[in-house]
Amino acid sequence: VSAYLCEHAWLGGSTAHDDVLVEVDGGRIAAVTTDFAGSAPRGVVRLTGLTVPGLANVHSHAFHRALRGRTHAVGRGGGGGSFWTWREQMYGVAERLDPSSYLTLATAVYAEMALAGVTAVGEFHYLHHGPGGKPYDDPNSMAHALVEAARTAGVRLTLLDTCYLTGGVGQPLGGVQARFGDGTAQAWAERASALHATYASDPRVVVGAAVHSVRAVPAAAIPVVGAWAREHEAAPLHAHVSEQPAENEACLAAYNRTPTQLLADCGALGPGTTAVHATHLTAADVTLLGETQTGVCFCPTTERDLADGTGPVRPLLAAGTPLSLGSDSHAVIDMFEEARAVELDERLVSLRRGHLDAASLLTAATANGWAALGRPSGGAIRPGAPADLVSLRLDSPRTAGTGVGPEVAVFAATAADVHHVVVGGEPVVSGGVHVHVPDVGKALADGVAAVLR
Ligand SMILES: [Zn+2]
Repeated sequence: VSAYLCEHAWLGGSTAHDDVLVEVDGGRIAAVTTDFAGSAPRGVVRLTGLTVPGLANVHSHAFHRALRGRTHAVGRGGGGGSFWTWREQMYGVAERLDPSSYLTLATAVYAEMALAGVTAVGEFHYLHHGPGGKPYDDPNSMAHALVEAARTAGVRLTLLDTCYLTGGVGQPLGGVQARFGDGTAQAWAERASALHATYASDPRVVVGAAVHSVRAVPAAAIPVVGAWAREHEAAPLHAHVSEQPAENEACLAAYNRTPTQLLADCGALGPGTTAVHATHLTAADVTLLGETQTGVCFCPTTERDLADGTGPVRPLLAAGTPLSLGSDSHAVIDMFEEARAVELDERLVSLRRGHLDAASLLTAATANGWAALGRPSGGAIRPGAPADLVSLRLDSPRTAGTGVGPEVAVFAATAADVHHVVVGGEPVVSGGVHVHVPDVGKALADGVAAVLR
């Protein structure tokens, strides 16, 4: 049993509470007492500043971190260009990774997330096999590297094992894409089942499923992935949906329906499903997502980096779709920035302020994200929830003088203001320093250098 006494804590709603005692037993929150005025229990740890629940980063491709800052040159020979030219650069990194270098890089990336207050991450994992598509001796070696990386970095992992069968609608896998493919949906399901069985008793790991996109999974294969998810303890099911207009055009040409309609017709929408990006949707798509209670995950810093556009957040919320957030390509790892971007992007589009309040945005970054990652009890400071706590400094140059409510976290703080992170009742970040990875900057530099050679 341990206890944390928070100077201020956000327990949901529009304000924070003072002097909140959080008692922990077996890695879960046992009791929450606000305005605690008694004598603190022995060994209590005081968390100064504003404490919020552990943040959920719902959509990650860990290896994309190697491209940060390297794809922005303008003009010939540079990386300017389009989503599709960026994808070629990303494939260059994918080509060089093996289980050892992936372990090194992903450990550093997940440690960066921990420093930013992320305690639950969803890894959309499709880099399964060796060069040329040859399976490793254990065909889940790359997934095991990710699990080991998350364990070392102290974050919870939802490993979304991704089915990826075609290089485009009706096209074979080409080049490095061979590493992503299992040949058939049945072969994908067998490999995913073995992975699920390996971590069935590990409370820090959830194995879920993903349809990479309607570009990469034929209509006939989508129901196989959906059935797998339903049959494995309601494992979460994620899919990239309508990130780019070209994806919609290819889907309409091949199937005479939008990606959302295709997923619906294949039985892949529902409360356990998260549509990632959901940028270029029709009104009918929005209705379908809302009616089926399918979640959406926006990744605003990546979507702006890749010139994707902004999704229809107000219609989606009006339709009843839960919103979660991801840092996706890791151009930025800062869930506060992702949260505020949803509101600020909508202001630019609508020429009006005040669409989503700070509490809704912080809920997207916490409880909604945990639910999308197959952990519905988490992302809140309440009895029974996993004891994941993130404390923000309120005396930094960014946060000083801004108050103590959720607006501070969403509209003033950055990831650099996170100074204490607790996962399952145990400290992972203390005083802004990672407990297990003391020099995260060096770890990232080494991890990136190894794959950019
Ligand atoms: Zn993605």
